[in-house]
Amino acid sequence: MKLCLIKASAESDFKAYKSVRGGPPQSIFSAAAATPDWVDVQLFDEVLKNCDPRRIHADVAVIFFSTPDANRGYEIARVLGAKGVQVAIGGLHATFLPEEAKDYADAVITGECENIWQEFLADADRGQLKPRYTGTPADLSKLNPYPTHLIKAKDYGWEWSVLVSRGCKHHCSFCLIPGMLGKTRYRPIPDIVAELEAMETDWVELHADHLTEDRDYALELFRAIEPLGINWVGETTIRIADDEELLDAAARSGCKYLLIGIETVDKAALKRAGKGFIKPENLKDQIARIHERGIIVDSAAILGFDEHSPDIFARTADLYHEIGVDSTAAAIAIPFPGSRMFKQLEAEGRLLSDNWSDYDGSHAVFQPKQMTPEQLERGADEFNRKFFSVGRCMSRTMRQIGHFGLSTAMRIQS
Ligand code: SF4
Repeated sequence: MKLCLIKASAESDFKAYKSVRGGPPQSIFSAAAATPDWVDVQLFDEVLKNCDPRRIHADVAVIFFSTPDANRGYEIARVLGAKGVQVAIGGLHATFLPEEAKDYADAVITGECENIWQEFLADADRGQLKPRYTGTPADLSKLNPYPTHLIKAKDYGWEWSVLVSRGCKHHCSFCLIPGMLGKTRYRPIPDIVAELEAMETDWVELHADHLTEDRDYALELFRAIEPLGINWVGETTIRIADDEELLDAAARSGCKYLLIGIETVDKAALKRAGKGFIKPENLKDQIARIHERGIIVDSAAILGFDEHSPDIFARTADLYHEIGVDSTAAAIAIPFPGSRMFKQLEAEGRLLSDNWSDYDGSHAVFQPKQMTPEQLERGADEFNRKFFSVGRCMSRTMRQIGHFGLSTAMRIQS
């Protein structure tokens, strides 16, 4: 049986963001890893290159996407379905809107795929897909390594991804992770080490929604991978900066780049979003401690929380520069269906668009509380003008040369 796994991605700022910060997507690589040898697998990651569904020859295709890419995913589903390919839709958007997705496919897969995957493949082989497969949280000790031959590390700029954990204990208002993956589960550390040893590159994302949530596990992991001599990127919270032992262990094990969700500099917005543990007044010292270990700090800026007034754009750009954020992208808040933010805006009648392509971080798809949608849409430009002004870029580069060396500093700015 020929199986085609597609990560759909439409042309948008969301795609541009993912192409810079994303590596191998979890959805298609997890499904490929769970697929037995009797199935012939093809992978398409549209963040790398668009697929042409007219040229795909498969018995069954599974299309994964998140909300900004939903229209593109449905378009691929329509073309493949018209050719007689059995089509299933999975991923974040379908998990929260299965009733919508079912109109475009023979089957909808919600949640994690592993526990339903053998049943799904057997049904597809018989040509008898069920309309719904409800995934449950997978036992991460039973996962296979991601295949390295279907799409290669060089296609991701020699950055690979190895899964560490799934889930997060926090419940941020704009985030789908708690609803999709639930409480945090961890892979056995020897499995991670074996997968890291087999990589054909020494740059990797240690994939976790909150890498250092369990301090003891994180310490053990960092000690176990230290001898491998790899460079890694990870996603965690600013709390790592308050734990010097953990930070030292991370640095010794090859940590070079941390994605830290600061999101906003407004205290009230942080509190209501579920990130009250971030204290803007402490960020400068916290980031300085991370920099002392030679680690780059990347943090997105989310614009348009209800607490944000029109001065938020300049305020965020000023503070992000002052506290030492090295790399950032400003985006208008995206109320993903399934998130607390979406539910609140829907209940208050403030959603302005039901075109999922607008949910890309560049469009105001909801009525902001303290400004017009147009002001919010112009706000990201104001942020960018201020944060990326020539003077600030030069001053950041000088600072980064001191922390990371000339070539890394130039790469951050490029
Ligand atoms: S934004 Fe980060 S910290 Fe908040 S729930 Fe999502 S993964 Fe957890």
